[in-house]
Amino acid sequence: MNSTISYWNLTGNKTHYPRLDKSISADVLIIGGGIVGVTCAYCLAEKGIMPVLIEAGALADGTSGNTTGKLTVQHDVIYYKIAEKYGLKAAQDYFSSQAGALDFVKNAAEKEKIECQLTSNNACIFAVNNEELDTLEREYKTAKKIGIDAQLRINPDFPPGSKGLLSYSGQYVFHPVRYIDGLAKAAADKGAVIYCDTKAVKLEDGELKKIRCEGGITVTAKHVVMATQYPFYDGANLFFTRLYPKRAYGIAVRAKREWPEDSYINVGDPARSIRTHIEKGERILITVGESHDTGRGYGDMAKHFDNLLKFADQTAGAADVIAGWSAQDYDTPDELPYIGRISDNSNIYAATGFRKWGLLSGTLSGMLITDLIINGNCRYEGLYSRTRSDITSSFKKAFVGTVNPVIELVKSKLEGTRGIEGLQPGEGRVIRFGGEKAGVYRDDNDNVTVIDITCTHMGTELNFNSAEKTWDCPAHGGRYNTDGKLLEGPPKDSLKVLFKGTYKDFLDKY
Ligand SMILES: Cc1cc2nc3c(=O)[nH]c(=O)nc-3n(C[C@H](O)[C@H](O)[C@H](O)COP(=O)(O)OP(=O)(O)OC[C@H]3O[C@@H](n4cnc5c(N)ncnc54)[C@H](O)[C@@H]3O)c2cc1C
Repeated sequence: MNSTISYWNLTGNKTHYPRLDKSISADVLIIGGGIVGVTCAYCLAEKGIMPVLIEAGALADGTSGNTTGKLTVQHDVIYYKIAEKYGLKAAQDYFSSQAGALDFVKNAAEKEKIECQLTSNNACIFAVNNEELDTLEREYKTAKKIGIDAQLRINPDFPPGSKGLLSYSGQYVFHPVRYIDGLAKAAADKGAVIYCDTKAVKLEDGELKKIRCEGGITVTAKHVVMATQYPFYDGANLFFTRLYPKRAYGIAVRAKREWPEDSYINVGDPARSIRTHIEKGERILITVGESHDTGRGYGDMAKHFDNLLKFADQTAGAADVIAGWSAQDYDTPDELPYIGRISDNSNIYAATGFRKWGLLSGTLSGMLITDLIINGNCRYEGLYSRTRSDITSSFKKAFVGTVNPVIELVKSKLEGTRGIEGLQPGEGRVIRFGGEKAGVYRDDNDNVTVIDITCTHMGTELNFNSAEKTWDCPAHGGRYNTDGKLLEGPPKDSLKVLFKGTYKDFLDKY
């Protein structure tokens, strides 16, 4: 599978919005047109505030358009962990806030007549060994205590080989791109102004905030919502030390056998998450997983898709693959997102660290940030605050062995290089060029591109992602194509090209 476009973007039929072509001012500027930005635009417009939303590409081009499309309060196992660290009331608040976001999606889809195949089902998490079963039992006990409609089944019939299954009723799946597109249209009808192909490159803080965009245009605003997944502007919050980028892969397949319509995910690793989507009467099996730290542990992209396909085949007899894609999201030390002001009394807001459950936490973010802008405060502010004591948490243990952005930065400087000899078409490698570390890529037409692989965000050296033919930052998740063009993540600039020519030219010259 060569192309990587998600099933949702393949079938989504997105509305086109114009590029911003002159400097403007607005009461509220939202940067980013994923689930966070669009929900926020809708909520504000509903309350009579006309925000401006700018998106670097098209709406839902980011992670929101590349998901599994599950809308559930079952975020792997989370409730017993929150209860242990922050108390049962915090676990209860997490549940109520997420359940409120689920109600919001249901109500908005109905009210705005958004055709997004929103379908109710059970969300299930399954264990394949005794240790995982113990974990499920702990989660089940906490879930019952805080009022989740949960059921624990031992030795269920499905998925094959599972020892236990924890299911929550009244959960949902949908078509995320159709939902975001429909919600954006409703927001625009109510007065929100949306611009696509408009990238913010710099934010100057002050009483009024000045946001510089590509092409020299500026937007002046009183409030700025950074709905960019990784905060576009950090202030002094050092978000980069507390966000861990993870990539994951997805496929959509037609299958030969029947399978249950509920959603499933496993407790352990490697992650396997499935759900059913029905398109014009046809059942499609969506399978997502193979998560790993961005910039590390890629192997071959085909391997990730093969592993998912094998799982889909065991589940329902995969007949053909319609789409395959990959995307990234950020983890936090205590597995809770950060939602709110970037510093006390600031009118700049961020929402990030959704740990692959941001369709709901992102909806919640749009709702809460709207309240912060309009009322100055919101419910659940403390639970999702950037100032909570997450770093000193017992959850930290869970992060031993995972990527640490600061260590990655140092490590990247020390890692060795190789020569260019024997570089194969389709291969990228770190070499020395003019005495400095550089990245070289040889394409299928025998052209070679050498780029400066120092990430333009914070100076970490990039690694080649042989799966997707990109240069990825292991520290903060910035990604560039083989010509050095910025694709996603916190950096604002592309990379410098040091050489472009044929492989033979390169060998003759250097
Ligand atoms: C494989 C995978 C499967 C997932 N499945 C689920 C699921 O089933 N259920 C669930 O709840 N969650 C899921 N998630 C998580 C969820 O998709 C994300 O947490 C959520 O979509 C993040 O939304 P967002 O709006 O913050 O970011 P995004 O959707 O990435 O939106 C950010 C937008 O900001 C734009 N942007 C960035 N920088 C700038 C700039 N400087 N100027 C202008 N625009 C900019 C980007 O182009 C992008 O469109 C999954 C994640 C992954 C990786």
